[in-house]
Amino acid sequence: MLIKNINELIGQTPLIELQMPVPNHSRILAKLEMFNPGGSIKDRLGQYLISDAWQRKIINSETTIIEPTAGNTGIGLALAAQQYHLSTILVVPEKFSVEKQQLMLALGASIVHTPSEKGIKGAIAKAKQLARETDNSYLPMQFENPANPEAYYQTLAPEIVSDLANTKISAVVAGAGSGGTFAGMAKYFNEYDSNIQTIVVEPEGSILNGGKAHAHQTEGIGVEFIPPFFENVRIDQTFTISDQQAFQQVRYAAQHLGLLIGSSSGAALAASLETAKFLPPYSTIVTVFPDSSERYLSTNIYNL
Ligand code: PMP
Repeated sequence: MLIKNINELIGQTPLIELQMPVPNHSRILAKLEMFNPGGSIKDRLGQYLISDAWQRKIINSETTIIEPTAGNTGIGLALAAQQYHLSTILVVPEKFSVEKQQLMLALGASIVHTPSEKGIKGAIAKAKQLARETDNSYLPMQFENPANPEAYYQTLAPEIVSDLANTKISAVVAGAGSGGTFAGMAKYFNEYDSNIQTIVVEPEGSILNGGKAHAHQTEGIGVEFIPPFFENVRIDQTFTISDQQAFQQVRYAAQHLGLLIGSSSGAALAASLETAKFLPPYSTIVTVFPDSSERYLSTNIYNL
């Protein structure tokens, strides 16, 4: 395959049928988003946000992109911004993995840290302040921008449908951080076939199931406020997965499937196994593995 630009490799990731015991003889298929060039599902978003703003003439070659991010969106944005020679400032709560921050810097972005205890809300407030203070800046604001779910509605969901040709899908399971992935997928699959259950995954310490917000080690998912994208989206079930459960699946995937997945993927796998318990036998469950464990090796991902 001859390509001219690394961004050509965004999307069209493999969908793997996991060779593992699943309750009720069902099967779990996972979209391997680690195969995007920046290593995560958020390359799709970075590319979509920047090209959308460029086409709408909201940004020009002098614009500074500013965004609050847990990391992967920052990498995706830095990758996309490089194509247009834009400078990028990423506002990251200190707690997020050092590997992701190194990659953002390597791609040419600058990082501004906010205190871990202020969470993503602290990063959002800081990014808004920086945007007010910086001439010709653009804040894509993944947490509010309808282009976020749209990116997944346009790319990820239809890829899955075409990967599976005429296979009947019983449920789609996806984690929520900004909520963009789940909202885009849920909208697409509800339109495609209203019998498909759309199931969201969060870690303990996230508030979707009515729990109290607190720190967790599963990285990339978990919400401190209900994503605005969830307003018109059908949620059939919300699974709240503990760090222990998520990390157990991360280790299982490495040891038995040769899959080096991040903790949000582990949570998605744990929730998919739970989903199989209440679906009829021989169901097909589709989930998303957003990134790889390689960007969490400095954390205790393999020895919680
Ligand atoms: N997993 C990982 C590793 C992520 O970085 C993100 C994005 N924060 C997600 C899952 C959740 O995606 P979304 O923001 O679309 O809900």
